[in-house]
Amino acid sequence: MSILVYTEAENGKFKKNALEVASYAHKVAQEMGTEVTALSFNVSDNSALGNYGVSKVLKVENEQLKTFHAKAYASVIAEAVKKEGAKLVILSSSTDSKYLGGLLSGMLKAGYIPNAVSAPDSVEPMVVKRMAFSNKGFAHTEINTETKIIGVSNNAFGLIENATDLQEEAFSPATEEKDFATKSVNVDKVAGEVTIADADIVVSAGRGLKGPENWGMIEELADVLGAATACSKPVSDMGWRSHGEHVGQTGKPVASNLYIAIGISGAIQHLAGVSASKVKVVINTDPEAPFFKAADYGIVGDAFEVVPELIEKLKEF
Ligand code: FAD
Repeated sequence: MSILVYTEAENGKFKKNALEVASYAHKVAQEMGTEVTALSFNVSDNSALGNYGVSKVLKVENEQLKTFHAKAYASVIAEAVKKEGAKLVILSSSTDSKYLGGLLSGMLKAGYIPNAVSAPDSVEPMVVKRMAFSNKGFAHTEINTETKIIGVSNNAFGLIENATDLQEEAFSPATEEKDFATKSVNVDKVAGEVTIADADIVVSAGRGLKGPENWGMIEELADVLGAATACSKPVSDMGWRSHGEHVGQTGKPVASNLYIAIGISGAIQHLAGVSASKVKVVINTDPEAPFFKAADYGIVGDAFEVVPELIEKLKEF
């Protein structure tokens, strides 16, 4: 009984979360005494999976599946589950993978736990620690179905190298037209080079920046750190930044290793989406700003003075 891992990819390359999910699966496989099979979509070089504990990869090469279609991808994954006799499916907890998790849960009659933050507490019965209450707490949840699905929270488990002898196998299940009821005809990418979901570091700014013309220093700081840029809700509502950068309860969740909040007050709805980040640094002129209570490090100061100084110092390294 193998474990099946769905690996996310973009432009033919694995995303970081694909390797994190593989690392997680390897850990579970060791406890279960089994091996990890991965499923990749339109990735020509799969060798990276062999560095993170995957024994076999089923390679799907299909022109129609070059862009993400939740129903079609779920059908292919379900076919792979049947072929491999897998009883555990592991994927990430990105927005796309959460769609898949929900669909697969119905198709495979499987219990599904998204937002897992660590390897299972136990594998028999399967109990998994996951984020709960908008990331303000944790729940230890048992899955009782024969087939099980776990969604791993981004950056929660980390990348753990385990060299394996990776076998590659072509996998070409038939796709059905009904799985392509909607189709993206054009995709305009609004985020920068590093996406929020995959980022180790996120530099985020709020209304304290006064206007969109002041984002140059935020982008420069992100550039120096190799970080993704993000913003608070009012900033995207006012059109200062794209909606793709809005983080928080009603925006994208952030689970980065470092989250730098600049000119953001720390309203509860903002904190709900970013509290899973490991280290939070706050820069704010107001020492009473609520974000300081949630911060690991804080600088009471004017962003227009602190940020350029920070950039200068970082450039010295
Ligand atoms: P403000 O609250 O105006 O804070 C600006 C901060 O900048 C202040 O703390 C100020 O001291 C500081 N500042 C000013 N000048 C400077 C300077 N020169 N240097 C440094 N600091 C400075 N918000 C989200 O972000 N994400 C969500 O997902 C979200 N969902 C919501 C859902 C609901 C249902 C509701 C009702 C609200 C939601 N909000 C969300 C909005 C949230 O309540 C806050 O209004 C919002 O987060 C405030 O954004 P802000 O911190 O950028 O602005």
